[in-house]
Amino acid sequence: MEERNVSDVGEFGLIARAAARFGIPPAGEVWSGDDCAVLRFDGRDLLFTTDVLVEGVDFERSWARGADVGWKAVAINASDIAAMGGMPRRAVTTLVVPRSTPLAFVDALADGLAEGARAHGVGVVGGDVSRGSEITVGLAMIGLPTVAPVLRSGAKSGDLICVTGTLGAAAAGLLVLQGLDAPRAARERLSARQLRPIARVEEGRAIALGGATAMIDISDGLIADLGHILAASGVGCSVDPGSIPIDPDVLEVMGSDASELALHGGEDFELLFTIPEDEFRAVTQVVAEFGTMVTRIGEITEEGKLWGGEEWMEIEVAGWDHLRNR
Ligand SMILES: [Mg+2]
Repeated sequence: MEERNVSDVGEFGLIARAAARFGIPPAGEVWSGDDCAVLRFDGRDLLFTTDVLVEGVDFERSWARGADVGWKAVAINASDIAAMGGMPRRAVTTLVVPRSTPLAFVDALADGLAEGARAHGVGVVGGDVSRGSEITVGLAMIGLPTVAPVLRSGAKSGDLICVTGTLGAAAAGLLVLQGLDAPRAARERLSARQLRPIARVEEGRAIALGGATAMIDISDGLIADLGHILAASGVGCSVDPGSIPIDPDVLEVMGSDASELALHGGEDFELLFTIPEDEFRAVTQVVAEFGTMVTRIGEITEEGKLWGGEEWMEIEVAGWDHLRNR
């Protein structure tokens, strides 16, 4: 009989198999299954998360400089803390490099880590280095919640589904970096969204304070990440396709493929959240003070999934999986 490998179970299957072995969290803590773990020490909550970038999978040296990779390692972790409504605080990093790695790349990587850390209010306090076949940059980050951490599991029927900013730009940025033709201004904005994402930290805090019931950052794609909220909360949704805030540069560059990138592209690191209708206007106004728009794209229902009023199956299958190459 042929031996199974990790691609047979996929990223989420692999996480589930490991988490089952780690046991059950003590009361008040949340372990695997949200953007961050929520830990409790001496009655205080702490947010704890980790993410890793691997050459050939998450970036290529042909289009990402060391400084970009360092910045992004910080930003994507800070985004997970933002998605709980928390403030990123400290990080440790792990670096795996082949012997042949140019010193200039690693110096630039450290510059990017430091720059990203400053921009997100984080101190990088240490790390570890080893040797391997691909450049691999891991980061683990702790953060402090402002109010009770906003989990994925709190969405209630009747809540509005909202998203910050615009969607599809990071995925279009990747295509542009890989050689897709685009007007210069759009090309620069789109590649920046891929290389230098900025975590929505202040926005996430305002959304948490404003009464969000569930929140997640868009890393796998709008549809996949909405699916995570629906599954964790045990609810359904009704989405208005015409309301999805597709990035204007993506519309210009991608034409009829723009909506595919906005729905499934991922890595936009915008915040997707649910909130009672009564709180929507106030939150939108506070988040606008940070220069970020909030768009309502639908609402949470008891069950089922509607897309423009029609029965919708797609949400079950879409989304990025590192181990399945999808
Ligand atoms: Mg996340």
